[in-house]
Amino acid sequence: MSEKKKKSKKVLQAEKRERAMIEGILEGSPDGIGVVVIRLECGCRKMAAVSKTGDPASKVIIYRDHAESICDKCKEDNGDFMRVSESFIHWVEPAPSEEKQREINIKVLGSQSVN
Ligand SMILES: [Zn+2]
Repeated sequence: MSEKKKKSKKVLQAEKRERAMIEGILEGSPDGIGVVVIRLECGCRKMAAVSKTGDPASKVIIYRDHAESICDKCKEDNGDFMRVSESFIHWVEPAPSEEKQREINIKVLGSQSVN
């Protein structure tokens, strides 16, 4: 029972630089209860705030670390979901219930309607 489950499940968490971005997005999105973080194969990132109903609460932001602009591929396809390597939602504390999280996850990431 007291066993620590530290790495039993892969939990995706925002990296330091992503967090800075996330905070910026949330500042401009009062309705946001979380931010969808999409990591693309090419290294670019796509993010958007999500509301408690699972709807977009901000514009989709696409950027690339240490670069003035996103890569050519993303310019072409706007970060197509076929090239997504990882995606998750960074929740604002206190995070919604697991059930709610799952619901929003499916709505947002399952349908790929973030665009
Ligand atoms: Zn890219």
